Amino acid sequence: MARRTTTTKHIFVTGGVVSSLGKGLTAASIGMLLEHRGLRVAMQKIDPYINVDPGTMSPYQHGEVYVLDDGTETDLDLGHYYRFTSSPLNRDSNFTTGRIYYDVIMKERRGDYLGKTVQVVPHITDEIKARIRAAARDVDVVISEVGGTVGDIEGLPFLEAIRQLSYELGRGNSLCIHLTLLPYLKASGELKTKPTQHSVGKLREIGIQPQILVCRAERDVPEELRLKIARFCNVDEEATFVEKDVETSIYEIPLVLRDQGLDRQVLRMLDIDSRGSDFTEWQTMVEVLRDPPRGEVEVALVGKYIELQDAYKSKYESITHAGAANGCRVKVRRIGAEQVEDEGAERLLEGVAGVIVASGFGERGIEGKIQTVRWARTRQVPFFGICLGMQTAVIELARATLGLADAHSSEFVPDTPHPVIDLLEGQQGVTNKGGTMRLGSYPCVLAPGSLAHRLYGRTEITERHRHRYEFNMAYREALEAQGVVFSGLSPDGRLVEIVELRDHPFFVGTQFHPEFRSRLTLPHPLFSGFIAAALRQRDRRTGQPAVGATARA
Ligand code: GLN
Repeated sequence: MARRTTTTKHIFVTGGVVSSLGKGLTAASIGMLLEHRGLRVAMQKIDPYINVDPGTMSPYQHGEVYVLDDGTETDLDLGHYYRFTSSPLNRDSNFTTGRIYYDVIMKERRGDYLGKTVQVVPHITDEIKARIRAAARDVDVVISEVGGTVGDIEGLPFLEAIRQLSYELGRGNSLCIHLTLLPYLKASGELKTKPTQHSVGKLREIGIQPQILVCRAERDVPEELRLKIARFCNVDEEATFVEKDVETSIYEIPLVLRDQGLDRQVLRMLDIDSRGSDFTEWQTMVEVLRDPPRGEVEVALVGKYIELQDAYKSKYESITHAGAANGCRVKVRRIGAEQVEDEGAERLLEGVAGVIVASGFGERGIEGKIQTVRWARTRQVPFFGICLGMQTAVIELARATLGLADAHSSEFVPDTPHPVIDLLEGQQGVTNKGGTMRLGSYPCVLAPGSLAHRLYGRTEITERHRHRYEFNMAYREALEAQGVVFSGLSPDGRLVEIVELRDHPFFVGTQFHPEFRSRLTLPHPLFSGFIAAALRQRDRRTGQPAVGATARA
């Protein structure tokens, strides 16, 4: 175990050259490495945009909105932090320019500044520094990742705050790690270092000298090039690292950085002494992903944003974890919900061993999702519906088994005669889009003997939510008579959290988002159960002997 430090140390992670370098993953990997050295780490993401939070941003702008236990709607990098570390994650863990200005303006209106002129320096920078320091509770190290790229106008106040804070913290108490790109020029057959030199130069202009460089590259970086970068950027040779594109999964990144001694270097520079570290469990899972003993299984994910890499980030990662837990690689066939409407479920889903219907808002593609549920239900193919996916399953079941052809969610058809999914009493009339959802962790009680109970291995669970609409209890009895099992309810019994179907190999819909709570070394039981069922489906089809589920609850 490492010696606990007396002062909390700060690491700032900045990015240069281009965006989308995987700064979140690199920051999360560093956090993971330090935790494995016995340190307590808090992760934090600073976003330079003016939206107060990403909650109302479109998936086209932003990708997934990751929800924390306390209901904070955050940037998707917080999902990486959750999956790679056990950092506390709460409303201090993510803030934006909008949030900072909002708070400063509120203070100004209250008269807190006693009539002074309110300025970027010192008032905005002070607010930023206070937010960074707020994350330094009960931990040894805070890792603050600054969104955007060095050189962006909007990132300047944050970098200025970091410069000031580093000075205030004193030598050896903070560290700037700068992530850059070494682009490969095909024509000359070389990796180029100039953009890295320029972005470090840009940081220096602001008064920040990065002590560690992590260079992304798509191919091997010759040793003399690494040394050249160190020399030109004023960074120690042993503090210049290469993060080459990983082959099979993002979970290899911490191992790539550890192999070069990045964790040792960080500890040395922050004057923390440390002993060994144990990566066996993580390494074992990474090996399984590289060479899965049970081969590959294909499942479909049906959603509205399948063309976007990041819209279903946590779902894709949870699927990967569940694959590793079951010793297989999972190939995901991404299918647009509207495509199902145009081309039919039959053609698009042919051959998949399981189907996930994703969460979402708005009517587009809803009938395609309903057709997908029907296909999985009637063909006895494992089905997993998440949030809107669960709601569409309820609509499909009501239409098909109760004969209510116009059953719908009142989100899409406000005057439907059969609102099987509806707003709760008291929620009606709410029109403001910000802050009107059921957000964050809620307890749920599982019905003994249900599939959910068997998979979780306990009757009380907590899961995270992000939705407005709920199952309409008026239809509960009728659906139960048709073999629907309401296996997860809120403790007061008023809200349905999980829906299952009897006489089906795997049919589960959850009103919550299980994908926000899955880790490589602690995969989510419902995802693991779903992939185990998909493997059984695959083996039944190919006539192989079925192997029992290895899902860990
Ligand atoms: N649109 C649905 C609701 O608001 C589902 C939300 C979701 O899938 N996250 O209830």
